Amino acid sequence: MKLNNYINGSWQEGGGAEYTAVVNPANGETLCEVKLSGKSDVDEAVKAAKKAQKEWALVPAPKRADYLYEIGWLMKERKEHLAQVLTKEMGKVIEEGRGEVQEGIDMAFYMAGEGRRLFGETVPSELQDKFAMSVRAPIGVVGLITPWNFPVAIATWKSFPAMVAGNTFIWKPATETPMMAYEMAKIFDEVGLPPGVANVVFGSGGEVGTAMIEHPDVRVISFTGSTETGRSVAELGGRHLKKVSLEMGGKNAVIVMDDADLDLAVEGILWSAFGTAGQRCTACSRVIVHSSVKEELEQRLLEQMKGLTIGDGIDESVKVGPVINASALEKIHGYVEVGKQEGAKLLAGGRVLEDGSLKDGYYYEPTLFTDVKWDSRIAQEEIFGPVISLIAVDSLDEAIEVNNSVTYGLSSSIFTRDINQAFRAQRDLDTGIVYVNAGTTGAEIHLPFGGTKGTGNGHRDSGVAALDVFTEWKSIYVDYSGRLQRAQIDTE
Ligand code: NAP
Repeated sequence: MKLNNYINGSWQEGGGAEYTAVVNPANGETLCEVKLSGKSDVDEAVKAAKKAQKEWALVPAPKRADYLYEIGWLMKERKEHLAQVLTKEMGKVIEEGRGEVQEGIDMAFYMAGEGRRLFGETVPSELQDKFAMSVRAPIGVVGLITPWNFPVAIATWKSFPAMVAGNTFIWKPATETPMMAYEMAKIFDEVGLPPGVANVVFGSGGEVGTAMIEHPDVRVISFTGSTETGRSVAELGGRHLKKVSLEMGGKNAVIVMDDADLDLAVEGILWSAFGTAGQRCTACSRVIVHSSVKEELEQRLLEQMKGLTIGDGIDESVKVGPVINASALEKIHGYVEVGKQEGAKLLAGGRVLEDGSLKDGYYYEPTLFTDVKWDSRIAQEEIFGPVISLIAVDSLDEAIEVNNSVTYGLSSSIFTRDINQAFRAQRDLDTGIVYVNAGTTGAEIHLPFGGTKGTGNGHRDSGVAALDVFTEWKSIYVDYSGRLQRAQIDTE
């Protein structure tokens, strides 16, 4: 199968010369081919989106929302199919694939509800017979750039608020995962969105991403990906005075205090560290543990890690699937070597897995380091694989300091039974998301999603906050006094 771009309501072959194969990371099987597009495809998509946006913005928001309800229903109907495609394309286990599709469905219905809200503000005027209000106005054509690790959910966090607010969009999915974008484009087509409202252009970040950022008619860029790429997106976007929303990397920690329910903590750590084979932006990659329970926690983690079945995520019994590709394997293993050189103690894992059927895919053994120094590279840099580093501390203050020592600020968690410690932690942990007595993953779509410091630039996906990315505030004053009233002057 060959995938084509979806532009202006029709399927169009990209103008680039090159096809790239989409490979199942679980077994190396080629799933389809996709043509890498170029600048001219972006130009065409932007032209269509710009033309469509004028009309789309005039469609009443509750009517725009009706399309989102339809999209949500179709996704619900196809949930199993979409989850299967997702798992084959990027490797997360099928249970998580279903969860990710559900996240998209939830987002569709949630944002459809916004069609009947999109609240603005009314405030009293300082002058008589004058009315003052602010409304959310759509911005225009927006560009969405998404990563491979959540190939559908992240796109829904961006495209649904963009659409309901009256914008049109061009979506560039990651080169590794075009199939989910293709499935979503089919749904956009089937619900009969007016041509040009939703456009999908396949291609590399360097070509298609850059062309979107540089295009004068693309007013907003909403990007999710690594901090390194995000920085260059922001630099280029800044030069072109674009509104740029960035959701980037993480180095998330679970804190386990001396009064924690250790069984619960172990469950939370394993789920958030090894789910999606550690390739979630919110994945737990550090465990900051009170030294009085460190050994006990190590033993319980080791015991439970023995039960993790590794393999093709399409098999319901598998708990840890493959990582995305060979270079990810190499990067993860490289960090494990760094950890050893830094003097951390390897308690489990640390190997590329090539036994039996695993040899055709990209599998890394769930890995546990202990006695890790808080400022070592494996404790500071994003590894993006199934590797945990245990760091011992002696107090809550020290745990919070270690948590906050990284350049990232996405997610953190604390296991404690002490309500005072829990509240102090949620106040002082410098991350956009904090969990108490749960792992570092598990965001719900109706709260803002994003992080501080090197994880973001102050914007948020999801929740009502997502609307801030895709709307401008317009303040409107209506004077019905019949005379010129001057603000700040005629107020005496
Ligand atoms: P990535 O390499 O930064 O790629 C992300 C997207 O940016 C892809 O579509 C990529 O296209 C595109 N891109 C690459 N270079 C570009 C350029 N110069 N200009 C414009 N676009 C460009 O990240 P990834 O490996 O796909 O995803 C993993 C990273 O995403 C991790 O760091 C993870 O923490 C982060 N992430 C963050 C969140 C969050 O919400 N904070 C959520 C999920 C993931 P190609 O595929 O063609 O390279």
